[in-house]
Amino acid sequence: MPHKDDSHEETLAHVNTYSRPSELKITDMRFAQLEGAPYACIMMKLYTNQGIVGFGEVRDMASKTYALMLKGRLLGENPCNIDKLFRRIKQFGGQGRQGGGVSAVEIALWDIAGKAYGIPVYQMLGGKFRDKMRIYCDTDIEFNRERSAGENMGDALKKRLERGYTILKMDMGIGLLRDIPGALSAPLGWLDEQRVLGERSRKLYPTPWADNAAEERKKVRATKDIDQLMEIFKARNDFIYHSPKHPFTGIQITEKGLDYLENYVADVRAVIGYDVPLATDHHGTIGVDEIIRLARRLEKYNIAWLEDPISVQYPEQWRKLTSSTTIPICTGENIYLAENFEPLLNVGGITVAHPDPLTAGGILESKKIGDLAQRYGVRMALHQAATPVHAMAAAHIGVATENCWACEFHANDVPWWDDLVIHKMHKPLVDRGFIDVPDLPGLGIDDLNDEVIREHVSSWDPDIWAPTDEWNFEFCSDGF
Ligand SMILES: [Mg+2]
Repeated sequence: MPHKDDSHEETLAHVNTYSRPSELKITDMRFAQLEGAPYACIMMKLYTNQGIVGFGEVRDMASKTYALMLKGRLLGENPCNIDKLFRRIKQFGGQGRQGGGVSAVEIALWDIAGKAYGIPVYQMLGGKFRDKMRIYCDTDIEFNRERSAGENMGDALKKRLERGYTILKMDMGIGLLRDIPGALSAPLGWLDEQRVLGERSRKLYPTPWADNAAEERKKVRATKDIDQLMEIFKARNDFIYHSPKHPFTGIQITEKGLDYLENYVADVRAVIGYDVPLATDHHGTIGVDEIIRLARRLEKYNIAWLEDPISVQYPEQWRKLTSSTTIPICTGENIYLAENFEPLLNVGGITVAHPDPLTAGGILESKKIGDLAQRYGVRMALHQAATPVHAMAAAHIGVATENCWACEFHANDVPWWDDLVIHKMHKPLVDRGFIDVPDLPGLGIDDLNDEVIREHVSSWDPDIWAPTDEWNFEFCSDGF
């Protein structure tokens, strides 16, 4: 019989690692904040005492504060105890962007554990159902005035087909009707009031996709004028927080508006044909009865799913929607934790569960959402609108979850997106509409590419991987 210590050494010899996993400790947490990857994205590094660094990511357009507030609750802990640490910090996450901190940490913990033991994340989740993850991507319009808006969108989607994508999605909110007289009915003046709030916010701080946005946003960030900054933040907050939830807007679509939207989809289908699944993303703002009227108009165009048509807070309204149309109904990108999908699944309110792993609670929680949905006969698609760190986390979840149909991709038109990470995986990462999930430790990413990160760093927060020592100690009686 070998001596106890010899046996321990023998076990470790079979672990493909340069570390001793049982003695790993979390020592630091740092960030790099990017612009246009495709949105404002926050990459995270979780450091350990043995040189292994885990990569995570805070939800796009969220705040790194959601992760920083967890730091003092993680330092000195063994990062391989993923579920234990997740349960400790779970209470500090929430719906929407608030889930971003917990999810970033959870993903980095899986990356560290995978690197420490020399195992890919998908393998730790129970192995693969498929070798490659199917990817669908969002689509912007290149406007050609000779053609209808639907034909323009059809052209843009056709280009996606030519790149090898096998599922398509397009935006189809009532924003399409905003400038068409007589297409929407709402208390007179109310839509104008909303428009003014939006225009004011965008004038003071343009959206990233606006003309000359980069230059204008840079000027704003460079200002030291506190009054000017306060005015900008107030305008943005007024715009973001002013809008009532969808059932309370009272907006109705007129028959003219319904005709316009129906023709839009008919024109798209005329360009791309009917073989390829086409999902539509609605971004809410109308009540359930209105979306039912629209859904009935769109049924004959074989819509793959209607995404985010109404507010997630009201399961009975989702049940009414699914029982009123044959189009599959999808939501979830702003839902935190599997337990918050349950009310929608319980009432038969969704046909597609659509978690974003950066809000849902990370890797294991997203798999749990897929498994939970499967019990209700519901398939999963993953929302993903961030850097390759998120894309790889989603791909590992996707191949390891039986009912995962596809993962989203928003950065098809960002030429430097792939170069954010250094790796031995397939290049480009998203190729002909698939991600090849490799047999490499953790997420499969060797390092983050500081040179590319520096070129696209947010000028709000230009110091990449800066110390965060002020967050090391926060004493709070968290238990309850
Ligand atoms: Mg969406």
